[in-house]
Amino acid sequence: MKVKKKTTQRVKHVPQRTCVGCREILSKRQMIRVVRTGERVRVDLTGKLAGRGAYLHDRLSCWVRGLKGALAHALKTELSHEDRARLEEFMNTLPAEAEDEKQAL
Ligand SMILES: [Zn+2]
Repeated sequence: MKVKKKTTQRVKHVPQRTCVGCREILSKRQMIRVVRTGERVRVDLTGKLAGRGAYLHDRLSCWVRGLKGALAHALKTELSHEDRARLEEFMNTLPAEAEDEKQAL
């Protein structure tokens, strides 16, 4: 006899996404979507671009980790020089520690 465990989490109906940097699951609002459209990979701040998407925290450390490979893997692609430059440019606008830093200011 097979016992199937249901691990479906029902948390209201807030869309939840996994950060490809740290694998934490968070509500979509705290995440930044990166989308692969055709050949390019770019940040999708509207969350509406069609294409394969992946999510990352608005936290620098997660982007650093993501750009090391997790992001490309999630998008099933290789990041080109341009993609990387574009993503790094965006990454550099992020705070090092989103939550904690706010308190310090
Ligand atoms: Zn993260």
